[in-house]
Amino acid sequence: MKTCILALAAALLASPAYCDTLIDHANGVQADANGRIEHFTGLLIGDGGKVLRVLHAGEARPKAAAVVGAAGRTLLPGLIDAHGHVTDLGFYALRLDLTGSSSLADMQQRLRTYAAAHPERKWILGGGWNQELWPDKRFPTTADLDAVVPDRPVVLERVDGHAVVANSAAMKAAGITAETKAPPGGEIHDGVFVDHARALIDPAVPKPTPAEVDQALAKAQEILLGFGVTGVGSMSTSLSDWQAFRRAGEAGRLQVRLMSYLIGDNALQAVPHPTPWLYGDRLRAVGIKFFADGALGSRGAWLKEPYSDKPDTRGLQFHSDAEIVSETDRAAGAGFQIATHAIGDAANAQMISTYEQLHRKYPGDRRWRIEHFQIVDPADIARLAPAGIIASMQPTHQTSDRLMAEKRLGPNRLAGAYAWQSVLKSGARLAFGTDFPVESPNPFPGLSAAISRQDINGQPPGGWIPSERLTLGQALHAYTRGAAYAGFAEQKIGALEPGKYADFVIIDRDPTRIDAQSLARTQVLETWVTGKRVFKRASATPERGQ
Ligand SMILES: [Zn+2]
Repeated sequence: MKTCILALAAALLASPAYCDTLIDHANGVQADANGRIEHFTGLLIGDGGKVLRVLHAGEARPKAAAVVGAAGRTLLPGLIDAHGHVTDLGFYALRLDLTGSSSLADMQQRLRTYAAAHPERKWILGGGWNQELWPDKRFPTTADLDAVVPDRPVVLERVDGHAVVANSAAMKAAGITAETKAPPGGEIHDGVFVDHARALIDPAVPKPTPAEVDQALAKAQEILLGFGVTGVGSMSTSLSDWQAFRRAGEAGRLQVRLMSYLIGDNALQAVPHPTPWLYGDRLRAVGIKFFADGALGSRGAWLKEPYSDKPDTRGLQFHSDAEIVSETDRAAGAGFQIATHAIGDAANAQMISTYEQLHRKYPGDRRWRIEHFQIVDPADIARLAPAGIIASMQPTHQTSDRLMAEKRLGPNRLAGAYAWQSVLKSGARLAFGTDFPVESPNPFPGLSAAISRQDINGQPPGGWIPSERLTLGQALHAYTRGAAYAGFAEQKIGALEPGKYADFVIIDRDPTRIDAQSLARTQVLETWVTGKRVFKRASATPERGQ
């Protein structure tokens, strides 16, 4: 600090200021305001961690206190995930991971090891099992879990989140007996609670303590920074999440910038209006999250016409038109941005109509958001831009959902499905994210899907509805500038430009020179926030196929 003060004194006499940092010899790549790729080779970062100058090849380098050579490696702006669930990401990472367990015995062994390693956990929670991968494809049972952990409650979620298996101690804690009947829309068999039957067991699981939420937040930040994610639209922020964010901010432990969208009456009582940016622009309550329908996989998405593979249903309409208008109006009246989950074409049409009404009532810059915007009547896409509606979409949902979406919708309703290029062509704004932990928070498979409409293994050949592909510049824009704009943060982040934060990543390959499958396997070598390095990869990790 002392050197800096001296340097500042010197700076009054002669520029430059000597506390600046120069990042030089970089292969800088970013999206310009129009979604075109822009190249640069250096960044001059001021003492406050903001970009002072973006330097190009051949330009004279200013003097700086510190010079960091990037050795020709590729530098991108920090990626911003417009829609993720921050503490959930941490909780998922801290629980028992059963992903890829190859048999019941393998799952039991993982449970045994985890239980022994975590004697302090009063409940053992885990997830990721999939009996379809096991030799006999038999669902696990209460007895299978009791055989390993008889003394503490155990609840293990299936990979899709639609079922859990519980041991006897968990069922006892939940007050479940042999006489307990499954509610409508649910099933119970041998300790497996399917769909709505989860409501019998989930409420018995103790709420995490503040210390556990803090631990989850710390873990989530570690994961995000490792993937180069420096900002997040923090969706469905509960009061307990918000309090953990504040504690971390006050203690100087917030590194990822969080644009929070609150959920729940108690969160709204505690935070009745949007907050200013807090803790050096690390945290802000900006909006409220609403839901218009469910998900496509469980046929909860609300469609204009019946499901192709279940013609007796059009999915779930969560609110009447009048109800959603009055609820969102109340939040808008309090000054909040509105972000509403809408998956099916009927839910999207309802939200567009709702926002059109709000837009007439609140004509300023309100940036109404639709989260997911997955299945849309093509005629409705043109209605986004005039009402100032942003489509907040997750490219990896397209690659994960493709085959399921074809079954649910049939061949004739896919024209407006995951229609990124149509959104941009209509003149509307697009923001990208992952919906982590539903998908991995790694942005690179998403960028890859965005330019190819293919998964990480190149399926399907030629891409799924390839006319909806984006250029690399457009995809990068949606993952940086677009996501910043969607969170009212484009003056601070989303691009490396004078006055904006020096939040950037150094990666192991140049996305402008590789194919989509290689892009998906990009590794982040370093992540910088506010001009300081906050993550450095210890050593190159072998590439993984998934
Ligand atoms: Zn979500």
